[in-house]
Amino acid sequence: MTNMIDRREFIQVVAAVAAVPLFRQPAQAGEWGTPVFDLHHHLRGAPAANLAHLDGAGITQANLLARGTAQEQVKALEALAPGRFTWFGTVDITKPEAEAQLTQAVKDGAQGFGELKFHVAADGPELRRMYALAADLRVPVLVHFQEVDHFPAEGKWASGFAQTFESILKAYPKTTFIGHADAFWANVSADYRDEAAYPSGPIARGGITDRLLGDYPNLFGDCAANSGNNALSRDPMFTTDFLKRHQDKLLFGSDCSCADGHGAGVSQSNNPAASRLAGKCVARETLTLLKKSASPEIFRKIAWDNAHRMLRIAPRPV
Ligand SMILES: [Zn+2]
Ligand SMILES: [Zn+2]
Repeated sequence: MTNMIDRREFIQVVAAVAAVPLFRQPAQAGEWGTPVFDLHHHLRGAPAANLAHLDGAGITQANLLARGTAQEQVKALEALAPGRFTWFGTVDITKPEAEAQLTQAVKDGAQGFGELKFHVAADGPELRRMYALAADLRVPVLVHFQEVDHFPAEGKWASGFAQTFESILKAYPKTTFIGHADAFWANVSADYRDEAAYPSGPIARGGITDRLLGDYPNLFGDCAANSGNNALSRDPMFTTDFLKRHQDKLLFGSDCSCADGHGAGVSQSNNPAASRLAGKCVARETLTLLKKSASPEIFRKIAWDNAHRMLRIAPRPV
């Protein structure tokens, strides 16, 4: 627990966020057969650029990942498209003011923290402070785990997932964690030893990520980016079983930076290791993969229901 916010302030946060009506527009089924919620949409500068991606890829609603508090940009977008967006806030978690800034973001309507992508250990003091604060504020925390460079000297992000993250899940049972990126997804296979950012070939059953999703109710998985798409493309029989096993724990996200929802521009920016998705829209590729690998009921949970359930439960009255 953190002592950075007192109880009175905390209750004010809860009341402020609870007063914000979510999703005022009815959900449209669209081309995917169910409405789609993109958990992992990085906020783009021009409001229209955000809508171009949603509309092009057949996405109904999206969660904006916004640096700083980004209040003005988020407000402009919400005014342009009421009810289509929620947002998560991220700030530099290595700075002492990070807790106050993220608390303010939640007061301003942020529904979670993330993505938290920093060159720190997954079980280090910087992230531990955020895990504790997320539990206090009743919001989920989305973390980027990566051990292998995409380009020379990139460095690790939230390092040590395979070695230490189980101890974090045990230590912070009230924190809702959303796992994302290379190390989270490569470790669906039991034979992974950080050989490649995006390993290929059949999955060795019993991987760490598969086990943690099954054993810990506070861990969820974000299917976004090349990492999620790659892992779910490797072994169709595994994927069908995995989606069935964790149907209440997985959330669709794109992390796509293409311009139009059809693959124009660059879909996985600053990531030459993800060339398999060049010219493609990650959202479309992953939705197609999920749809063909899961029953319609499970597809709807992953594409829509699970995100709604998670974001509505947080924050909630104590
Ligand atoms: Zn990421
Ligand atoms: Zn795209």
